[in-house]
Amino acid sequence: MTAALYTARANLSPLVLTGIMPGGLLTTTNVVENFPGFPEGIDGYELMTRLQKQAERFGARVKFATVESVDLSGETLRLTADGGPVETRCLIVASGAGHRHLGLESERLLEKKGVTYCATCDGALPVFRNQPLVVVGGGDSACEEALYLTRFASEVHLVHRRDTLRASKIMAERVLGQPKVRPVWDSVVTEILDVGQDRVTGVRLRNVKTGEERLLECAGVFVAIGHVPNTQLFRGLLDMDEAGYLELKQGAQTNIPGVFAAGDCADRVYRQAITAAGAGCAAAIEAERYLASR
Ligand SMILES: Cc1cc2nc3c(=O)[nH]c(=O)nc-3n(C[C@H](O)[C@H](O)[C@H](O)COP(=O)(O)OP(=O)(O)OC[C@H]3O[C@@H](n4cnc5c(N)ncnc54)[C@H](O)[C@@H]3O)c2cc1C
Repeated sequence: MTAALYTARANLSPLVLTGIMPGGLLTTTNVVENFPGFPEGIDGYELMTRLQKQAERFGARVKFATVESVDLSGETLRLTADGGPVETRCLIVASGAGHRHLGLESERLLEKKGVTYCATCDGALPVFRNQPLVVVGGGDSACEEALYLTRFASEVHLVHRRDTLRASKIMAERVLGQPKVRPVWDSVVTEILDVGQDRVTGVRLRNVKTGEERLLECAGVFVAIGHVPNTQLFRGLLDMDEAGYLELKQGAQTNIPGVFAAGDCADRVYRQAITAAGAGCAAAIEAERYLASR
């Protein structure tokens, strides 16, 4: 939407193809407290609706359609969206990234009711303050989430399926040296409780070595087992790393002239609304320069 705003203001008449989630991931969150300019916080859906209106005010066209295939071989880039052709001279990919899920039914039912995928986004919410929390994962992200949560939680249980962390040595030392962090080794979450109460009260754990099951009380579960960038469409066409994040040069350029990218689909580090917006601005400016140079 930021890319659309900038390209619209540059009189480029951008077309936004929204996919199945118009407004993107932020529309799934109630309150965004860290987007600059909203001291009281703002509902994620409202923020994205406002941003869309802002882009439309300058001529952006927004269409509810999903891109199913792309042909980036010629000067005219050809997309198929909801079965119909779309031709463009310039494409900005901003398809986002999804969180990898545990795959539990209880996880799905309690999402946003104590199950979350972003400590930076949700950790400071009142419901998690001075409460025991669970972080699932053993990589750098999980360690970062756990460390961040120690500011608010009474204790943070770091549940990992192995007996050592996969995170970098320095991060592992830091997290294990923090007194509020309690590692739970060799364990997987098999159920999040309590769907009946419609809120998180604990998790059921299974020790993968002994098979022993136990319950652990907590007010929140932060799942940090990785992300899946929505870039499958571009596999084999655009340069990407092994996880699927698009690899860019000079800020926003892909390996194909006229194709730019912005936001979570090309960001394995920050994945925040403000960084996605900033990258959208950069991609739009690059796109504008590219078109001017032709
Ligand atoms: C629950 C939750 C809470 C969050 N809270 C915060 C917060 O408080 N603060 C913060 O800064 N960040 C927060 N984030 C992170 C933030 O939402 C993301 O960093 C941001 O939305 C990334 O923007 P994006 O435009 O790159 O991708 P997304 O918002 O993921 O948007 C991707 C868009 O691409 C579309 N798309 C995908 N595939 C296709 C296709 N084939 N064809 C057409 N369209 C397609 C999707 O439908 C979607 O509209 C939160 C995330 C979650 C999940």
